[in-house]
Amino acid sequence: MKAMCPISRWAAIGVSDVQLTTKGSVLPNREWGNGFVSLQKCVCCNRYDIAVVGGGIVGLATARELVLRHPNLTFIVLEKEKELALHQSGHNSGVIHSGIYYTPGSLKARLCVRGASLAYAYCDSRAIPYRRCGKLIVALDREEVPRLKALYERGQKNNVKQISLIDARSIREREPYCRGIMALDSPYTGIVDWRLVALSYGKDFQQAGGAIITGFEATHIAMAAESPAGSSEGLKYPVAVRSSTGEEVRCRFVLTCGGLYSDRLAEISGCRAEPRIIPFRGDYLVLKPEKSYLIRGNIYPVPDPRFPFLGVHFTPRMDGSVWLGPNAVLAFKREGYRICDFNSNDFVDALSFRGLHRLVMKNVTYGLGEMYRGMFISAQVKILQKYIPELGHNDVVRGPSGVRAQALDADGNLVDDFAFDGGVDELGRRVLHVRNAPSPAATSSLAIAEMIADELEARFTL
Ligand SMILES: Cc1cc2nc3c(=O)[nH]c(=O)nc-3n(C[C@H](O)[C@H](O)[C@H](O)COP(=O)(O)OP(=O)(O)OC[C@H]3O[C@@H](n4cnc5c(N)ncnc54)[C@H](O)[C@@H]3O)c2cc1C
Repeated sequence: MKAMCPISRWAAIGVSDVQLTTKGSVLPNREWGNGFVSLQKCVCCNRYDIAVVGGGIVGLATARELVLRHPNLTFIVLEKEKELALHQSGHNSGVIHSGIYYTPGSLKARLCVRGASLAYAYCDSRAIPYRRCGKLIVALDREEVPRLKALYERGQKNNVKQISLIDARSIREREPYCRGIMALDSPYTGIVDWRLVALSYGKDFQQAGGAIITGFEATHIAMAAESPAGSSEGLKYPVAVRSSTGEEVRCRFVLTCGGLYSDRLAEISGCRAEPRIIPFRGDYLVLKPEKSYLIRGNIYPVPDPRFPFLGVHFTPRMDGSVWLGPNAVLAFKREGYRICDFNSNDFVDALSFRGLHRLVMKNVTYGLGEMYRGMFISAQVKILQKYIPELGHNDVVRGPSGVRAQALDADGNLVDDFAFDGGVDELGRRVLHVRNAPSPAATSSLAIAEMIADELEARFTL
């Protein structure tokens, strides 16, 4: 049996009222999320087989998968925030997608279809609340019907469960306030709080012996200085991950799942700059509670095939509220959720990137339209009224926002598929960066975790 580090041991036996300090002493601990433990700054046992950088839903699902597959290895998740899953995994629409949209046979399609059924089974097994409230993709006029039918065929090829095309009357039966001439009905689509799911993955990981450190921003990933000459410790754990505050974790292998910072994490281990992450903020409107009766399930437009974002939609939430949106505008700060959030480094980085110039040139009208609709609620409501004519300007208020990590290549093409990268030289044989885990990575998270674990096993001798 593996020797369990003190962090793991405390977590595994469910002790939630202690905390190991940098000196290894025991202090009262903070509990977070689902009643499990944030163990910070334990450097008495900072050697692990695998360090996973990034405690979002992808990093946590993968860490969980790895510890379940390899119970004899030691693992740690390093997250820069004080809590897990605060960014994309905690700022999204909360939809369990069924896999209709994606190119048949593509990884994205397969992972979403498998991921959705794994997600439902997982939520059942952990008693995480969800609602299978269904979804309609609504064609407003004849022009949209061929695209809707093509989407239906796509869904069938992807083996999406229970989809059908329904007429205007059936739309009204499903959604009494919705207008449309035809819709793709997907009763298998659901809603869930993805942050709760991510925290539950983290809890599983800890219970299986994994350690989690929050407040650890990885700023350096390098071969440790002594490793070539070789103390036995140095040779066994030759990779050093260092934080912005100078703490160091040593390990055999590193996996990064950094979401909006995945490109920067790749760069610090010597990888090329592209694909670059360009942050797109999506602002939601919220329906006033007294108008929630207007919406029963998810209502989506027929997507514009030129853009990966699915268009503004009506989404019921687990707390009973209804969100409308999001739009998609260039954010001036990665992980900046307010319109006024600005970071000069992120701003200059994005604006000096040739890929963004090309994207803007190709889509200038669309981009300006999105900005306009972001600024003026009435413009957004006007679009939404096409689906729900009873919706009034006064029925909505501004709501929360999310920021999407959109990977972009130097030619301005949106990177729509998974992108892995290694470090360079010796480091390259020990580091795997998930540079792009495209949406809907929350729905697909358990299937993505299987794929990343396979990739890791294929690249490294664990
Ligand atoms: C507006 C919006 C709506 C969406 N709607 C849906 C939906 O309805 N359904 C769905 O399935 N998907 C949806 N998605 C997509 C889904 O939310 C994301 O694909 C998924 O959450 C990505 O998870 P992640 O772990 O890759 O990234 P993140 O959740 O962003 O996690 C990355 C983590 O890495 C950490 N990190 C970064 N750099 C460092 C560092 N240097 N050191 C340590 N830690 C670091 C960050 O703090 C963060 O916690 C939506 C996304 C957005 C933005």
